[in-house]
This record gives sequence, C-alpha cells and structure tokens, in this order.
Amino acid sequence: MSPRTFIYHPGDAVAMSLVIKNGLVATQDPKRDVLRADVLIEDGRIAAIGKSIKGAKTLDASGCAVIPGLVNCHGHAAMALMKGVADDLNLEQFLGRTFAVDARRTRQDVRAGAMLGCLEMLLSGTTTFMDMYYHEDAVAEAVEATGIRGHLGWAVLDDDKTTQKGSPLKNADRFISRFKSSPLVRPLVAPQGVYACSEETLLGARSLAEEHGAGLHMHLQETRYEVHEHEKKTGKRPIAWLEGIGFLNDRLSAAHCVWLTINEIRILKKNGVGVAHCPVSNAKLASGGIAPVPEMRREGVPVGLGTDGSASNNCLDMFQEMKFCALAHKAHRWDATVMNAQEILDMATIDAARAIGAERAIGSIERGKRADLAIVDITAPNMAPTHSGNLVSNLAYSCIGANVRDVIVDGKVVVRGRALKAFDEAKIMKEAERQARKLLAL
Ligand SMILES: [Zn+2]
Repeated sequence: MSPRTFIYHPGDAVAMSLVIKNGLVATQDPKRDVLRADVLIEDGRIAAIGKSIKGAKTLDASGCAVIPGLVNCHGHAAMALMKGVADDLNLEQFLGRTFAVDARRTRQDVRAGAMLGCLEMLLSGTTTFMDMYYHEDAVAEAVEATGIRGHLGWAVLDDDKTTQKGSPLKNADRFISRFKSSPLVRPLVAPQGVYACSEETLLGARSLAEEHGAGLHMHLQETRYEVHEHEKKTGKRPIAWLEGIGFLNDRLSAAHCVWLTINEIRILKKNGVGVAHCPVSNAKLASGGIAPVPEMRREGVPVGLGTDGSASNNCLDMFQEMKFCALAHKAHRWDATVMNAQEILDMATIDAARAIGAERAIGSIERGKRADLAIVDITAPNMAPTHSGNLVSNLAYSCIGANVRDVIVDGKVVVRGRALKAFDEAKIMKEAERQARKLLAL
C-alpha cells in the first residue's frame, strides 16, 4: 500500500454525534471556502458542513474560527526537555551537544519529554505531528495518552553509529509491528540522514517500510556541510546518490531540504517525495539561506511546515512557524508577493497532510475526512477584528497558539477551554521538570 493511499485505523470513536455550532469555518477544501457554518462530527469523521445542523451534543463556537487541526511535518517531541541546551551553535556543534545529551536519555525521560511536547502541540492547535527519535515506543505511549495523532519514526542509524541498544532496524521493525493497528499512531522508519546511514542501512529501512506498508522520514540536505561531505565521500550529492541506490520513493518525507538545486527539486518531484520545511530551525542553526520553497511548490513537490525539535526552535507553536515562514521568504527574495497568507495556511494544513502522505484523511474540513479540528478564539485583542474576508490572513500573521480554545482529534474533544481533557497537565509538567533535572544534571 502506498503511503499516499493509506487510511488511519478507526479508533474507539465517539459514536454520538457532535455539532460545532456558529463558527467561522476555514475549510481548506479545494476552493478554500470560508463559511459561517456548523460542522457535524459522527464516528470520528466530518459528516456534514452546513446551516442549522442538529446533533446529540453541541459545542458552541460563537466568536471562534474552526480550522483543520495543524500538521507539524517534522520534529522530535521528546526534545521538549532540551530547550536552551544547545542555543547559538552551528549545526555541527549543535549535533555534538545534543548527541551527548541524547546518549544519556532513558525511556522515562523520553516519555516525559514527549508528554510535554504533545501537550504544547495540542494546546497550540496541532493535531498531527511527524516525529523522529529512539525509544519511539515511549513517544507512542505519550500520543495515546494525550490523544494527539503521531506519525512516529523510529530513528535508524548504522549499528556502529548509534547509542541504541541492539540493531536500530530490528528495533524499528519491532516498533512498527507493535503500533501498526493503533488509531492515533502511524509508525514508520526514520533514517537519521546520509551522514549516519550507509547504503545498506538505507535500503534496509526502505525494505522494512515496504514490508509493513509504512512511511519513511529522514533529514536531507539540511546544510552545505552535509552536501559537500557526502559529495567528497561518494562523488555525488545526497539526493542524486539516494536516487542512484534506489532509496527515493513516495513513502518518503524529507525534512529541511535547504541546499537544493532545481534538478534536485525535480528528482524529488519525480520520485513523489514530500518535504518538511523548517524555517525557524534552519534560521536558528544558520543552515545557510532559506530553502527554495517557491521553486519546490512550483515544480509540484508537496511542502509542509515543521517546527523541528525544541533544542533548535525552541517552540512547537505552528502559528509562529507560519508567520516566520512568510517573513523569511519575503525578506530573502525582496519580494512581498513571493508567498501569500493562503499558501502559508496551506503549508500548515492540507499541503502538510500531503507532504506526509495523509491528505486523504486529514488537512481540511471536508465530508468523510477524520474530524481533526482546532477552534480558535477570534475575539482576542490580537485577532480582532476577524471576519470571513481576513480570517486566513489573521491565522497566518496575527494568531498565536494561545488563541486556540478547543481541539478535536479523531472526533474526540481532547482540549476544552485551553485544558487537556484526558490527562492531568500538572502531572505532565511535574514529571517533565523532574526528568529534565535528572537528564541535564541541573
Ligand atoms: Zn530534525
């Protein structure tokens, strides 16, 4: 099964119907309609969008916008404990510092970090995230406990380059088998990057993904250093080399892709690869310039936004990512028209879903899709005045995560009145503080 056609396993969705009443709905459907409408949810799916719909339960969204849940295309949720650990360093120094901490990580602190990351994402309107780490089973537990949706990649490196116990490919295999049928977790294989994975490891990852009908996620052409080192070693830049060994296909979503030529963009398009653009992380680590997103979009490569981990961002709020993305590209090209508010919102919703191969299931408010939604307070001072004519613009340029009031994932209300429903937030915070103190020897 190609990842472009997969469906999520149905969860224990609320059989009862729920109507979200009186909201201003940014559908992100093919016409990008913004409607004053009710949204009916049944069995975890969007059943109807229209006027005066009745359902067993009602959620009043007066004074609110109803938007598709945001999709964060690249991150390392468990690194939420590592804010400020490696600031103001170039990528190579950054990796040295973060790998040193990573090597000390335990399953307990990965779980505590992932709980904190999931909490931060949910409260700021993200309903799906793509992740790469080890102990990814602990991240999966955090996903199931908090109620967010996770495309979770077990990090794979060469056996002699990893601090994981056992072979990373075997660990990934076990992880995928365990979480394959979870309604909220889509397990996948995540090679760290060409600098940590040999041809054999990469092809092993590809076979494993094929065997399980799973996706692939990796860091790719993030810095000039990565590209040049690989060229020195193999005679080819990473993308051409990956195509040459037969690794590229439509299961893959690649993070960063900053250092790309137009030919490499065409290779990505030809092979159906999706891209996670992480503008804040790239700028903070001074990866060099701004990824050629306008060219990727023009050539038809699906591009979504990602925050990357908390050590390199240091914030998982996708609204911040949207605004920075727009400003970075405008400033970089000396062209205010290079990317508009609608395109920015697309890259956090429907295009993001496309970039991770989930556009049939999520990314827009359309009949039949999974009910993953965020309800945003548009009466807050920073959002007023909001009406149908400027909603998209306000979402891209004025909104912050704290404006999100409620969040629904798979038809279930997981955040209500800015509070997580399924889990005690104070407990998550306390455990995160405790594990961070241990991990960072504070
Ligand atoms: Zn990353």
